[in-house]
Amino acid sequence: AGSGKFFVGGNWKCNGTKESISKLVSDLNSATLEPDVDVVVAPPFVYIDQVKNSLTDRIEIAAQNSWIGKGGAFTGEIRLLNTGCICNEVANLKIPNIQHVHFSVCSVEQLKDIGCKWVVLGHSERRHVIGEDDVFIGKKAAYALSQGLGVIACIGELLNEREEGKTNDVCFRQMKAFADAVPSWDNVVIAYEPVWAIGTGKVATPQQAQDVHVAVRDWLEKNVSTEVASKTRIIYGGSVNGSNSAELAKQEDIDGFLVGGASLKGPEFATIINSVT
Ligand code: PEP
Repeated sequence: AGSGKFFVGGNWKCNGTKESISKLVSDLNSATLEPDVDVVVAPPFVYIDQVKNSLTDRIEIAAQNSWIGKGGAFTGEIRLLNTGCICNEVANLKIPNIQHVHFSVCSVEQLKDIGCKWVVLGHSERRHVIGEDDVFIGKKAAYALSQGLGVIACIGELLNEREEGKTNDVCFRQMKAFADAVPSWDNVVIAYEPVWAIGTGKVATPQQAQDVHVAVRDWLEKNVSTEVASKTRIIYGGSVNGSNSAELAKQEDIDGFLVGGASLKGPEFATIINSVT
């Protein structure tokens, strides 16, 4: 791990029931966590209030998405795009003339109102399943930051992009979209999440992750500033679990993790949090 405070986020995605979440919260409340680690969990929107009211204040809450501007007349936030759709789920809805639909998002104001401190933006499931583009994600990041939410800004390449040697190009393009939009990097954590490693059980090797983290840090140095490059935490996500986190955490430029599946198990998530070196 680098010099910044280790940061571990748990992305619960669209999982859980009132009952399973209450068990997870109680496991997290009773876990012993390294004091020098920032810990954040991102429950599904409908359970944020339950989690906020029952989880220890030691752990902060993130939303899994937010709207690009002030809330208001956006019923169910359905947005249409003219770009091609790569999403079977959406295509299967067979809605005429609609290539993309974006469902259910909350305004930044509402997220703050219910106690969120962070929002995850640019997650690969939003980029590649829902079809959010770089500019749209950048706008969301800028608005969230302007209102005082921290942003967990996700980047990462698809398998074919890695195989074609385009990993850095893709990550740099996604970084540029954030850089073009955000007023400051003070409240941003970058999550490098290779898409081929997310939810697949195929974790990047510590060296693969380290190489991209260094490249992203260099990009920040050249395109933003030396200060931002050295201060900004770059966390790794993609099939992190209690057995592989310690090796990953040894890498100089891995400043923490964004964890999906394994964050749904309290004791395992605690192991990952405590793998800081
Ligand atoms: C994620 O959803 O951000 C993620 C990294 O998922 P998983 O840990 O399940 O691969």
